[in-house]
Amino acid sequence: MKIENLCVKRLIGDVAGATTRGHKIAIKGGYIHQTFQGGYTFSPLGWRVIQNIENIIRDEMNKIDGQEILMPVVSTADLWRESGRYDKVDVLAKFKSRAGVEYVLNPTHEEVVVDFVKSVLETYRQMPFMVYQIQTKFRDELRARAGLIRTREFIMKDAYSFHETVEDLQKYYDRCLNAYHNVFRRCGLKNVVHVLSATGDMGGSVAHEFQLVNEMGEDTIYLCDKCGFNANKEVVGDNEKCPHCSAKMRSVRGIEIGNIFQLGTKYSESMNLTYTAPDGSTKNPIMGCYGIGVGRTMAAIIEESADEYGPVWNMETAPFAVEVIGLADKEGKTIELAEQIYNDLRTNGIEVLLDNRDARAGEKFADADLIAAPIRLIVSAKNLADNKIEVKYRVNNYDTTSLASSFNVDSVIADVIKTIDALK
Ligand SMILES: [Zn+2]
Repeated sequence: MKIENLCVKRLIGDVAGATTRGHKIAIKGGYIHQTFQGGYTFSPLGWRVIQNIENIIRDEMNKIDGQEILMPVVSTADLWRESGRYDKVDVLAKFKSRAGVEYVLNPTHEEVVVDFVKSVLETYRQMPFMVYQIQTKFRDELRARAGLIRTREFIMKDAYSFHETVEDLQKYYDRCLNAYHNVFRRCGLKNVVHVLSATGDMGGSVAHEFQLVNEMGEDTIYLCDKCGFNANKEVVGDNEKCPHCSAKMRSVRGIEIGNIFQLGTKYSESMNLTYTAPDGSTKNPIMGCYGIGVGRTMAAIIEESADEYGPVWNMETAPFAVEVIGLADKEGKTIELAEQIYNDLRTNGIEVLLDNRDARAGEKFADADLIAAPIRLIVSAKNLADNKIEVKYRVNNYDTTSLASSFNVDSVIADVIKTIDALK
């Protein structure tokens, strides 16, 4: 991709209306565009990041035997009446068709997945299994805030597992908890903790939230430095004492990026989802459900890692692995060489962006900071005179800087590919 063709508007200077650093950077870099209050369009740049996060999630869900499906955004009000939640969930957006059918925009998919699994599940031999989707959801929030942190429309990975016994659910729940930490670690997030939470609207017995410890967070969470137990405010209550060891807990701010619930039979009972047990009797499967906010995860990465220059993506989340910047000289040699390196990297299947625009170096670097490819190659007349190409890595505020030993293009390409693999 050439930067002039990238359908992205980057902004210079301060951004009005953005409430957090991450929100500012997402707007400034042109990753997102507000279509309505709480609804965003992801630009080609933002969508690349979202797809990269989705692929990490897919990979980790498939590793724990998840099976990907896709359910509709809309369902009938009657399905929500079956579970008894139609009048209870205040964020449920409701509408009526011209034919008079009542619909909802699903903010979560327990009802829809149970309806699907009813058509599939017959015997205990089919369990355990887990199905998941990455899908758009809608919550009729009174207030939207902080860019992708609290939106009305959002992309979520939601997963649902089905079991014969509580013990089997517990076993799978632990596997999923582990998989979630893998997802967030691969996204480059450092300070993610899981905290015990109340089950609220969802029902069930045990639930955990995955929280990024960050001052921009809208949640207060409690960490016990003595025994390592973490919980949210509802669990800890006003005395702020650890439910495990009674030590005084430390309160910090958190951004919720995922949650997992042991639902039990709440939905399978109310919606009459059954299977035949080994003794021939009819039973309701025990369910777990597991969510990750995909847009929120992107926002959380920016919130945690951004510095004065812009966001920091790792090799798995970055919109481009490499950006090649040609700084024009009189003979046009640098521009030609930058183009050659760009073409060779593309031929090697590398996601690469080329900036050969007729623009000031400062402008190109400022744009490169906002796009934040982990590897930046700068072709300039000054370096070329020394038979060198400048390589910069977008880690630790660019302080890892080195020069490729020669501008033999083949060896530069080989070096870049090696570095990409090492950074993965
Ligand atoms: Zn404790």
